Amino acid sequence: MHLKTLFWLAALIYTFVIGGSLLLYRLYIVFPAIEAATIDARMQNIRVMSASYMNERDSLMDLNRDWARWTDTYEFVDKKTPSFIRENIEGNTFEEFDIDAFAIIDLKGKTLFAINKKNNIFTNINQVQQISEDLDIKHIIDNDAQYGIIRVQEKYGIYVSHHIQDSQQIHAPNGVLIYMRVFKPEFFNRIKLISNVSVNIESPNNTSETPYQHFDDFNISDIRDSYYFNFTNTRGVVIGQSKMQFPADSSPKAFDSHTLVSILVLLTLPLFLSGLTNLLILKPGIEISNKIHLMKSSGNIFHLTQQSYIKEVDAFLKTFNTLVDKINIYQQKLVNDSNTDGLTGIYNRKYFDSEYDKSWRVSTRSGGPLSIIMMDIDFFKKYNDHYGHLQGDIALKEVAASLSHVSRRAEDTLARYGGEEFVMISHAKNKQQLEEILDIILKSITNLNIEHAESSVSNILTISCGACFIEDNGAAMKDLKLQALNAADEALYLAKKNGRNQFSLRTFAPSETSAKSS
Ligand code: GH3
Ligand code: MG
Ligand code: MG
Repeated sequence: MHLKTLFWLAALIYTFVIGGSLLLYRLYIVFPAIEAATIDARMQNIRVMSASYMNERDSLMDLNRDWARWTDTYEFVDKKTPSFIRENIEGNTFEEFDIDAFAIIDLKGKTLFAINKKNNIFTNINQVQQISEDLDIKHIIDNDAQYGIIRVQEKYGIYVSHHIQDSQQIHAPNGVLIYMRVFKPEFFNRIKLISNVSVNIESPNNTSETPYQHFDDFNISDIRDSYYFNFTNTRGVVIGQSKMQFPADSSPKAFDSHTLVSILVLLTLPLFLSGLTNLLILKPGIEISNKIHLMKSSGNIFHLTQQSYIKEVDAFLKTFNTLVDKINIYQQKLVNDSNTDGLTGIYNRKYFDSEYDKSWRVSTRSGGPLSIIMMDIDFFKKYNDHYGHLQGDIALKEVAASLSHVSRRAEDTLARYGGEEFVMISHAKNKQQLEEILDIILKSITNLNIEHAESSVSNILTISCGACFIEDNGAAMKDLKLQALNAADEALYLAKKNGRNQFSLRTFAPSETSAKSS
C-alpha cells in the first residue's frame, strides 16, 4: 500500500471515528437528555391545560351545586312554580353565568324545564336529550355530582349535574339540575396565554397519530408536534379529541441543522490538518522518495530542488544536496583517475579509445579534417637497459609533459597508448598544419635534450611519429575508424624503418588505396 493511500485512509478513518463518535454522542447522550427535558416541559404544559379544563369544570360544578341545593329549585321540581323561572332564569343575572344550556328533570327523567342557547338566544326545549345525545340521563339520575364532555350543535362543551335538594338537605333529592357550557375561543386563548400551547377540541380519528387515551394521566412518552387526548362520554364512546399543538420548532430533533453544522465544522479540523500535513510533509516526502528512486535507477544523482516550509525537511534537503555535491566530486575524481595514466598524468589508452570513438562519430557526422598521430620513443628498450627503469620512467614523464604542451587545442586529445607509445587526435585544418605539428613534436622531444648514449640515431632521446590525415571525414568513413588508426600505425612503422627521429604522413580516404609518405 502506498504511503499516500495509507495516510488518506487514516485521515478518512479518523474523520469517520470522530464524526461517528460525535453523532453517537449526540444521539445517545445529549439527545436523550434534551428529549427528557422537553418531555418534562411538555408534561408541565399538559398539566396546565388539564388544570384549565378542571377549573372550568369545577367552577361550573360549584355554580350547579349552589342552585341544586337550593330550596327554591327543590320546590320548583315539586310545584313547577312559574315564578322560579321568571325570577331566576329570565332575569339578567342568569346571563352572567355563561351557561349555554340549563335543564331540570325529575328523577324519572322527565324534563321539567330546559333551555338551550341558539344563536345567543335561549329557547325552550321539550326534551333534555335535545341538548346533546351524549347526555346519559339514567347515569346522572343514578349518580350525584356528574360532569363530562359532550357534543353540542357540532361544538364541544362540558356538562355538570347535581341532584336537586332543599338547602338544608333534609329531604331526599327530587330531581337533577343540568348545566352545559360550550368551550369558547376565550377558553383556549387563556390556555395559550399561560402555557404557550395551542389547544382545541376536534372530532376523533382525524389524525394518524395515536391519541393518548387517558387525559388525566398526562404522561407522555414521546416528542411530537401535537398530542391528542381522547374524550369519552359516560358510555365509553370516544366523542372528541383535545389537540395540543406545540410550536413546530420547539420539538428537538436528533440531528438538527445546528448540530450537523457543528459536527461538520469539527470534522473539517482533522481534514484540514491532514491536508496540511500532506502538503507540507507527505507530498514533498513522496516526491523526494521518487526522485531518489529515479537517481538509483538512472545512476545519476542530482540536487533535490523541492520547496519546503518545514525546517526539518529543509535541513534534510540541504544535507542531501551537500552529499550529492560530495559524491559528484568523488565520482568525477574516480572518472578522472580511471581515465588518467598513473605514470605520466595524461589520458590513458582506455580514455583514448572512447574519446577516439566519440571524435570519429562526431567527425563523420559533421565532416571536416581529422588526424591521428602515433608516437613511439626511439630505442627506448636500450634507454631502459642503459639508464635503468626508474630513469626510463622519468624520461617517459618528461616526454608526456612535452607532448601535452604541443596539443594545446581543447578538442585535441593526447594519450599514452601503451609503454613508450603515445597517440594524439588532432584537428589540424590541413595537411600543412599537421606537418607543422609533427615537426613541433619531434623538436619538442629533442629540445628536452635527454641524453641517450645507446641510441643509434642520435645521442639524445628522439621520437618517431606516424600520422594519418583525413581531409574530409564524412559519412563514407563511418566504419573505417580502425583502418585510420592502422594507417597511422603503418606510417609510424615507416618512420621507424626510414631511420627514426622523423615523421611519416599518410593521407587517408575511403577511395584511396595507395598511401603517400614524406
Ligand atoms: P624502437 O625504436 O623500435 O621503438 O625500439 P624500442 O626499444 O623503443 O622498442 P621496444 O618495443 O623493443 O621496447 C620498448 C621498451 O619500452 C621496452 C620497455 O622496457 C620500455 N617500456 C615500456 N613501458 C615502460 C615504462 O612504463 N617504463 C619504463 N621505464 N620503460 C618502459
Ligand atoms: Mg614501441
Ligand atoms: Mg620505441
